[in-house]
Amino acid sequence: MMISKKMAKAINEQIAAELESEYIYMAMAYKFEDMNLPIFAKWFYKQAEEEHAHATKFAKYLVDQQASVELKAIPAPKATWKSALEICNGAVEHEKYITKRINDLVAMAIAEKDYATHSFLHWYVDEQVEEVATTTELMQMVKLAEKPGQLLQLEGRVYRMVEERS
Ligand code: FE
Repeated sequence: MMISKKMAKAINEQIAAELESEYIYMAMAYKFEDMNLPIFAKWFYKQAEEEHAHATKFAKYLVDQQASVELKAIPAPKATWKSALEICNGAVEHEKYITKRINDLVAMAIAEKDYATHSFLHWYVDEQVEEVATTTELMQMVKLAEKPGQLLQLEGRVYRMVEERS
C-alpha cells in the first residue's frame, strides 16, 4: 500500500460521503418530480450522476495506490423538504459540508507529507468551488421565484444550465 492506513480509511469514508451525496440528490430529484418540475429534477439527476463519478474516482485512486476499497452503509436521505427553495438550500449546505470534508483530507495529506494524495485532491478542491457556485446560483434563482408559476418559468433557464453542464 502506497498511502497510510489512516489516509485509506479517510478516503473510504469519503467514498461513502460521495455516494450519500448521490443518494441525497436522487431524493431531491424525485421530490421535484412530485412537484411537477421535471427540469429541476433533471438538474438533480445530473448532479447525482456527478456524485457517483466522484465516488468511483476516489475508489480508482485507492486501487491505484494498492489500498482496499471498503464500501460502507449509506444512510437514507431525508425527504421532508416542503419547497423548491428548501431543497436548493439543502443542496448548497450539503456542498459546503462536502467542501469541508475535502479540505480536511487535504490537511491530512499535507500533515502526512503525502504528495500523491495532495496532488490527487486538487481536482476535488476545484470541483467543490464549482459545486458550491452552481448550487448557490440555482438557489438564488429559486429565491427570486416565490409563486409556483414563476418556478415553472424558471425551468427554461434551469434547462440551459443542465445543457451547459453536459
Ligand atoms: Fe462530490
